[in-house]
Amino acid sequence: MSDATATMTCQACGHEGTFRLFRAREMLFGWRHSFQYGECPQCGSLQIQQIPQNLPEYYPADYYSLKPPPVRSKQAPAGRVALANWLLHSRFPLAGWATWRLRWKYPFFHWARTAGCGLDARILDVGCGTGGLLRRMQRHGFRNLTGVDPYTSLEADEPGFRVRRAELGSVEGRFDLIMLHHVLEHLVDPRRSLEEARAHLNPNGRILVRIPVAGSETHRLYGADWFNLDPPRHLLVPSRRGMETLADRSGLRTVRVEFDGIETGFLMSEGYRRDVPYTGRPEDDRKLRRHYRRLAEQANRRCEGDQGVFFLASK
Ligand SMILES: [Zn+2]
Repeated sequence: MSDATATMTCQACGHEGTFRLFRAREMLFGWRHSFQYGECPQCGSLQIQQIPQNLPEYYPADYYSLKPPPVRSKQAPAGRVALANWLLHSRFPLAGWATWRLRWKYPFFHWARTAGCGLDARILDVGCGTGGLLRRMQRHGFRNLTGVDPYTSLEADEPGFRVRRAELGSVEGRFDLIMLHHVLEHLVDPRRSLEEARAHLNPNGRILVRIPVAGSETHRLYGADWFNLDPPRHLLVPSRRGMETLADRSGLRTVRVEFDGIETGFLMSEGYRRDVPYTGRPEDDRKLRRHYRRLAEQANRRCEGDQGVFFLASK
């Protein structure tokens, strides 16, 4: 089976050629349906060979419950706004342990700061779900937030905060920061989606793409059992090189790349390997979780983490 090949065109780098094929199973819900994926010989990106016609069935109603629940609207108190401004604009950012804690607990300050955004920046979250991340940002002082998601069950239209059931293409206006958190790998035409995002970007704006990374340490360790392959919902899982080439082909340049893989990548892949699905798994051993968290952090520092953070700008 591992010798099977097929002629495919890479959605990431555009290479057309003979891809090595392998089969991987739906294990998030434990349905165990098998799907064929191809690996691009040019850039190492992974791509489903054929998008299943019944793909929407793989997003059942409880899929969204996997995301954090929406936080109630709450305006940021003055002290929190002052701290936020300091975190975003200080020339002397916190060092060491404090920075590390802040990065993990409030990663949006780091993303916004890296993108050159203040609290007034126009920020768009594409595929925002129920808007949980935007609500958290609002509570910390961000005041120009928009979210779109064609499947969201929750819409909102408040001053400085909007969540709409819509596609990116139907959004009006331009933004300083457009975020796609683990969204691009689900889209049928990722290049077109990035081009659309680019068309909505202010001149000095940034696109933030967070996405699983093929060729990472966890992928190499677990192969078809790798949690972040997530068949058949992930249609394209690019390598770092694949993602940078995809950005280039979409009229974007890669400004910065970081890695933010977490212990879940290891823990779930271990489970999948033993035929234990994501849902219905036993509670994780805390020691084991700490062990894998350390491994994930080390991999991130070596640029080997299995989740990438790509900051993109117009060329
Ligand atoms: Zn490729």
